[in-house]
Amino acid sequence: MIQLVRGFKDILPEEASVWQEIETTARNHFHDFGFNEIRPPVLEEAALFKRSIGELTDIVEKEMYTFAGSKGNLLTLRPEATASVVRAYIQHRLYAADPVQKLYTIGPMFRKERPQKGRYRQFYQINAEVFGIASPYMDAQLIYMVTGFFRKLDITGLRVHLNSLGCPECRARYKAELTAMLSSRVDNLCADCVRRLDKNPLRVLDCKVPACRAEVEQAPSMIDYLCGDCAAHFATVRSALSDMDVPYAIDHRLVRGLDYYTRTAFEIQTDELGAQSAVAGGGRYDGLVALLDGPPQPAVGFAIGMDRLVELVMARKPAGVVAPDLFFAAMGEAAWRKAFEWSSRLSDAGVRTEIDFSERSLKALMRRADRLGAKYVIIAGDQELANNSVNLRDMKTKEQIPVPIDSLVETVKQRIVN
Ligand code: AMP
Repeated sequence: MIQLVRGFKDILPEEASVWQEIETTARNHFHDFGFNEIRPPVLEEAALFKRSIGELTDIVEKEMYTFAGSKGNLLTLRPEATASVVRAYIQHRLYAADPVQKLYTIGPMFRKERPQKGRYRQFYQINAEVFGIASPYMDAQLIYMVTGFFRKLDITGLRVHLNSLGCPECRARYKAELTAMLSSRVDNLCADCVRRLDKNPLRVLDCKVPACRAEVEQAPSMIDYLCGDCAAHFATVRSALSDMDVPYAIDHRLVRGLDYYTRTAFEIQTDELGAQSAVAGGGRYDGLVALLDGPPQPAVGFAIGMDRLVELVMARKPAGVVAPDLFFAAMGEAAWRKAFEWSSRLSDAGVRTEIDFSERSLKALMRRADRLGAKYVIIAGDQELANNSVNLRDMKTKEQIPVPIDSLVETVKQRIVN
């Protein structure tokens, strides 16, 4: 038997209903904050991610699904959505009508990571990106919007971690200081961090190896190196969050995996998911639009990990498929023919119906109706057809009423839809 590819998964119907609920909640919530949907493809030029995410990141170095296209160019299954949304913003000149664009997208991402609980090779994100607004109030509103979204899903116990990564100028000063400090203790760092030290020293800050974590405790903090403008931006984000009663913790080790972040970086974490504690992450990326050959426009956004969100929602309430409103316990060819017609018409009218075409006893049919959680059952066999009347059984009260065949669709519709 051919099985799933490792690191990939099927979302089965019971769980899919939770996904739908999350998507609908996100769409409505983001809509109220002024967002419109955009749907970029899952396949892009590899160069898009190399340039935006950065050559020296784990994603680009080892996690991308990349293969040759027919013209010899390299194509990649997107590992994240921001680069694609930025590309679309530039390519379709969305900024021409109005540089301010608030866009969201929901869909699968692909990363060749080591599969484990909460970490998949195809996973889903809800992304929101705002272009053309440099104000720190936008950063704060995005964070507020995500926390409000989680609240609507009844998810509590989340923590907002906040940091500022400064701008290229103040970050360069910080990087130099950090590199100098860590270089003097290089013997205590893991092999990956020794390599990172040269190329991307900020990544040492979020290394999980205990020895590296101990070293990082002593490291200087980016916030102390912010230039005047970056410090003012950060202060406003903080006061705006306080104004809206959004609790947060400053996290000096929060650097995010991607090169393109500037100033605000945030992550939303939970203790309920074990090692994979991040449910959402985002921040400002003011340089990315220009880096991808667009007009310089500030931008800020986030990505919510849907797989982890689904786990949190399912831990709170049982998932399940929707039960039928009406089950047809029809017996025999003549009854199937009538029930087929009734169920088709009633489904059209908004009644969720289920019909059993198998050759089974009434007892077996009623057992199935019960198992499916049907609210009502119509019992129809040759006898009922001959009498021009079928029985409608309320499965909760066990009450059974006769319904004339000629007015069945109307009668049932009135009883069930209203
Ligand atoms: P990132 O794009 O790495 O900042 O990730 C944003 C969010 O996506 C994270 O906070 C996770 O919730 C989720 N995420 C990232 N990678 C994976 C993965 N391999 N499997 C499941 N969820 C993921």
